[in-house]
Amino acid sequence: MKTLVIFFFLFILQTGLQAQQLIWPNNKKAVIVLTYDDALLSQLKVAVPQLEAAHLKATFFLTGDINGETIGKWRALGKKGFEMGNHTLFHPCLSTDDNPVHSEGYTPYSIIREIEVMNHFLYALDGKTLRTYAYPCTETTVGGKDYVDTLRKYGLIKYARVGGDVNEAVIKDFKHLDPLQIPSYGLEDNTTGDQLIGFVKKVQQSGGMGIIMLHGIGGDYITISAAAHQQLITYLENNRDQIWVPTFMQAMDYAFKASK
Ligand SMILES: [Zn+2]
Repeated sequence: MKTLVIFFFLFILQTGLQAQQLIWPNNKKAVIVLTYDDALLSQLKVAVPQLEAAHLKATFFLTGDINGETIGKWRALGKKGFEMGNHTLFHPCLSTDDNPVHSEGYTPYSIIREIEVMNHFLYALDGKTLRTYAYPCTETTVGGKDYVDTLRKYGLIKYARVGGDVNEAVIKDFKHLDPLQIPSYGLEDNTTGDQLIGFVKKVQQSGGMGIIMLHGIGGDYITISAAAHQQLITYLENNRDQIWVPTFMQAMDYAFKASK
């Protein structure tokens, strides 16, 4: 009898947990968010035409590496409903060979100041006042200090993306998710189309959300091929009745509201 009672409570608990599963817009079964970092030319040249042909939206985390040649292009994308996120001006990280600005000399306040200036820069670009953020090199510390709570205190950023492996990046529990530490699947060089679709299928099975962090597409660095990117886009397009592909801001706005 005791065992039966325990099973009964376990059953209730299980049902309760399942009930937390979010219902996505238009009865879609899962959410994939495509995010592209560092304002790279290959994103404008290769990724954007593929996204537009499939009528999919995405988020671009821009840095101060935008210029007279590209600002008009980013602005035009913003007008079409793509999101321009904040990725700082100088992309400070721990010292590495290919990263010119080192974060060791920063304090939490100095990076906040830089994020604020980049927000102004982005306001000039698309006129938006609410902004999302991606931590440079997915590091939440500068000068040895964690700045997530400083970022929270200043209120400059609504949602922020961190890194994560392919398992951590499948998000199901939004109740306990920190809006300023949202995990994502950071791709490696030469990630294949099959690997990308494998991740999407994993997210589909979970009924949750998966955020993908992309860099170079058919060029630049941390590059996946144009063909692999096209394979991902085609899969998302063919499964559009099952998978919602919003911007990072849209996805998080919906998920946090729906999980309250
Ligand atoms: Zn970056």
